[in-house]
Amino acid sequence: MKSEKLKDIFSGDLFKGETRFMEPMMNHTSLRIGGPADVFVIPRDFPSLKNILVILKKRGIPFLPLGGGTNVLVRDGGIEGVVISLKSFRKIEILSEDKVNVKVYVEAGTPVQRLVNFSREKGYSGIEGLAGIPGFVGGAICGNAGAFGYEMKDVLISVSIMDAEGRVERLREKDIDFGYRKSSISSTELLLSAEIILEKDKEEYVSARIEDFLKRKWESQPISESSAGCVFKNPHGLSAGMLIDEAGCKGMRIGDVEVSSIHASFFINKGRARASDFIRLMEEVTQRVKKRFGILLEPEIRIVGRNEV
Ligand SMILES: Cc1cc2nc3c(=O)[nH]c(=O)nc-3n(C[C@H](O)[C@H](O)[C@H](O)COP(=O)(O)OP(=O)(O)OC[C@H]3O[C@@H](n4cnc5c(N)ncnc54)[C@H](O)[C@@H]3O)c2cc1C
Repeated sequence: MKSEKLKDIFSGDLFKGETRFMEPMMNHTSLRIGGPADVFVIPRDFPSLKNILVILKKRGIPFLPLGGGTNVLVRDGGIEGVVISLKSFRKIEILSEDKVNVKVYVEAGTPVQRLVNFSREKGYSGIEGLAGIPGFVGGAICGNAGAFGYEMKDVLISVSIMDAEGRVERLREKDIDFGYRKSSISSTELLLSAEIILEKDKEEYVSARIEDFLKRKWESQPISESSAGCVFKNPHGLSAGMLIDEAGCKGMRIGDVEVSSIHASFFINKGRARASDFIRLMEEVTQRVKKRFGILLEPEIRIVGRNEV
């Protein structure tokens, strides 16, 4: 769709929130890579989100939900249509509790670390292993994020989903297919919020576990550099990082993208990296691992957007 048409649609008072045109996606991803989104919206409330989806459906305009942008590689041509940022939806609320458990309502745009800190302050156990994982709760549920034996699905009771027509539905955990770093929730719908269950524990025990996981993460991952976390999934019973390392790929570089020397499944943007170089490096690493071990690595990151024209 022509950019003037998109401007016409989004310049009025269609919804409460912010609209930006030709917004560079490198400003919204932890990799700092990605061309412009035709339109980038930050709706302020759920009725606004519904209004946006209804008009997009009517006009046949594609959209992409965005959480913290910490698990995506956006191609250099940017994103066609509308990127919907969920960052305004950040509420955490205790719904009910008994002697043992507490049920918590959490919105999709809540940073995972805010939820982890909340659980630490209250002494609630169940998500300690998510300590240090960037991004938002919505993204973490959709991708079943986890570490150290903890996974997002393990504390989930239900989610609230808005479909492409703006209808809201509640799905229970058992209605959703979860796997290793994946779920059946697709990017053609929006996860709005979730109910999770945590177990009451002593604050200092929860805190000690979180500190331990954070320390292990800092020691084994290049946390302070621009990355999207693990580029590849661990093949069953194996470590993708180890295979990449043993295939001699540590430190390999194309353009400004480099295979981390700390954790080989992390690719680092060393400056002004391009998505095309990132994808070439992924292909090269995949080929070398296949040649050396006969194992085909599967991407963990989501590659989205259009190629540069
Ligand atoms: C330094 C670093 C360390 C990391 N460590 C880990 C780790 O230990 N374990 C781990 O699992 N991951 C890890 N990651 C990857 C990443 O942080 C997680 O996968 C995170 O949960 C992604 O959430 P996000 O909000 O950033 O998702 P995004 O990157 O914003 O989105 C990911 C995908 O989900 C979709 N999506 C996002 N939100 C919604 C929504 N509300 N509704 C519908 N679709 C949605 C998007 O369209 C996209 O396809 C790490 C990343 C970095 C940079």
